[in-house]
Amino acid sequence: MPEKITVPFVDLKHQYLSLKKEINSAVLSVMEDTTFVGGAPVTSFENNFAATCGVKYCIGVGNGTDALYIILKSLGITAGDEVITVANSWISTSETISQCGAKPVFVDIEADYFTIDVNKIEEKITSKTKAIIPVHLYGQMAEIDKIAALCKKHNLFLIEDCAQSHLAEYKAIKAGTTGIASAFSFYPGKNLGAYGDAGAITTNDDLLATRMRMFANHGALIKHQHQIEGINSRLDTIQAAILNLKLPHLQKWNKQRLKNALLYNQLLADVSEITTPKINPASKHIFHLYVIRAEKRNELMDYLTKKGIQTQIHYPIILPLLPAYNYLNHKAEEFSVAASYQDSILSLPMFPELTEEQIQLVVETIKAFYK
Ligand SMILES: *Cc1c(COP(=O)(O)O)cnc(C)c1O
Repeated sequence: MPEKITVPFVDLKHQYLSLKKEINSAVLSVMEDTTFVGGAPVTSFENNFAATCGVKYCIGVGNGTDALYIILKSLGITAGDEVITVANSWISTSETISQCGAKPVFVDIEADYFTIDVNKIEEKITSKTKAIIPVHLYGQMAEIDKIAALCKKHNLFLIEDCAQSHLAEYKAIKAGTTGIASAFSFYPGKNLGAYGDAGAITTNDDLLATRMRMFANHGALIKHQHQIEGINSRLDTIQAAILNLKLPHLQKWNKQRLKNALLYNQLLADVSEITTPKINPASKHIFHLYVIRAEKRNELMDYLTKKGIQTQIHYPIILPLLPAYNYLNHKAEEFSVAASYQDSILSLPMFPELTEEQIQLVVETIKAFYK
């Protein structure tokens, strides 16, 4: 164990302190108002987030995983269907496909940007394929224009997993605006983080918006008028009040993350054992995570931990190789890029308030390790 943490992986306290007065009073006003489910803060956040993303509708839900599940269910994804997604992601992306009764079909990642390899999608499309879920991983969007074209050609739904890409852009296309619907997470550590679980769906589709809102609320838009069976997954009122306060700061925080990433890139450029993350020239990368590839990754990680620098791995095991998917009998060779990266990727500390000194310390410690 280290003496003390010198550079935390994330620092949520810092951001809270910078908005403490406003956040405390917003939370208290929900208490005073006693509208604990729904109410003005939820509607207001939904409207603000839709406007910020540039879409017609935002539907607040319980979390990002539910957002994906609600989209898939509302599109009628069911047993016998296949949904294509990417091998390197958080399990929400694929478990929600399974929970609809459908089969997740994994595609390898592209070598430079860690997102779905568009050139390997078409070979996975069958007569059962209903949808594609690209993940805008680490804060950088997948090649959404090409994926949208494939979906159009094969008549598939495009669903964006935007849990790591709030306000990211690709060729001036904003995350969460291209697919029939998109899932956002406001898990505390995400670029826009609540103080508990929270999520949202964005869409421009009127009918689907209504259906999703209904499904998320027991299948009823009006109390006791259940048109269908649904689930209970609503954006918590206290979380909405907090998110409303944080939303106007998101652009600035994203820019600070990018600035931090560029400094890391610059300072790590001459470390031959490290490959720094590449930014697609067409991308506005929001660096949810700063992920390097490192020689002797595990030893480096241990060394950094001993020096009080927290790191993580996103993700140590690619989805198709997790025990949960043993039944699909996948082999690492099927996902050669993603599988080869899982032993070298390392996520360094990344949050808006990270200081130049902290970044320098991380880099110096990495250099000391390789010496
Ligand atoms: C965080 C995350 C989710 C799930 O969001 P929760 O709010 O934690 O349920 C889904 N997909 C990806 C890629 C994520 O990073």
